[in-house]
Amino acid sequence: MEGAALGHFNVADFPLLKAVLEGAAEVGVPALVGASEGERDFLGTRQLAALVKSLRDESGVPVFLNADHTHSLVKAIEAAKAGFDAVVIDFSALPFEQNVSRTKETVEAIKAINPAILAEGEIGDIGSGSEIHETTQSGGRSLTTPEEARQFVEATSIDVLAPAVGNMHGMVKSMVEGETKKHLDIQRISEIKRAAGVFLTLHGGSGTDDEDLQNAIVAGINIIHINTELRVVWRRSLENSLARDRNQVVPYKILAPVIDSVKRVVSARLKLFSASGSTKVSPARAS
Ligand SMILES: [Zn+2]
Repeated sequence: MEGAALGHFNVADFPLLKAVLEGAAEVGVPALVGASEGERDFLGTRQLAALVKSLRDESGVPVFLNADHTHSLVKAIEAAKAGFDAVVIDFSALPFEQNVSRTKETVEAIKAINPAILAEGEIGDIGSGSEIHETTQSGGRSLTTPEEARQFVEATSIDVLAPAVGNMHGMVKSMVEGETKKHLDIQRISEIKRAAGVFLTLHGGSGTDDEDLQNAIVAGINIIHINTELRVVWRRSLENSLARDRNQVVPYKILAPVIDSVKRVVSARLKLFSASGSTKVSPARAS
């Protein structure tokens, strides 16, 4: 996948899932559907797995299912047993040694259920909550170093690493309005890729500068998570749809424009992520 990355989109309801499927079909690329513990609790872990499988079988669109930010062994096992293709094992809030031991234990448990499952681990601080934040949660935020990335991958046998490289979950208000963008430490991504030698995921991709995203892909990012951007469009298009006709009560008529609006964001992101091979890299960029 040189010069391209997989788009990962979180879903919390069926319209969002349909939008991701339609976006991937339109662009003609595979996509990852993600659900955090909260999203799985709402949709049902086994029910979501059944939905994704049935949509994939019927449409032929290669969509895969990821158990995003899983904070316990029990929840990881539940997702693996339900048929998820990947699990993000997130003990990143714990001290490094505990993160290593809990992650390693979970990798072994889910691989015993399905040897083909992809296990992702996380080190460093990328904040929590794909929401709109008042201010940037800066100060004391620790970025992943290449050396700890190498140690973590070796000690845990993860297939995919989620590093902290300037990315952050959620968006601040100025990002939602498009006035500011997140910037990434491209040099650090290259160094982590070289040291770790595994697939790399960029979490909290919403609101990131397009050129930074393309440069991050060239530097070694393989999967990019987009959640807040979809949530913002979901809410705004739902409000517009409801306001358009106050007597409209047919859910699928109210929700059709929501699916279409979210699909457009998914398509635009997938096009960007698959087009990086053709763009020029400007290594002098300071971010
Ligand atoms: Zn994340």
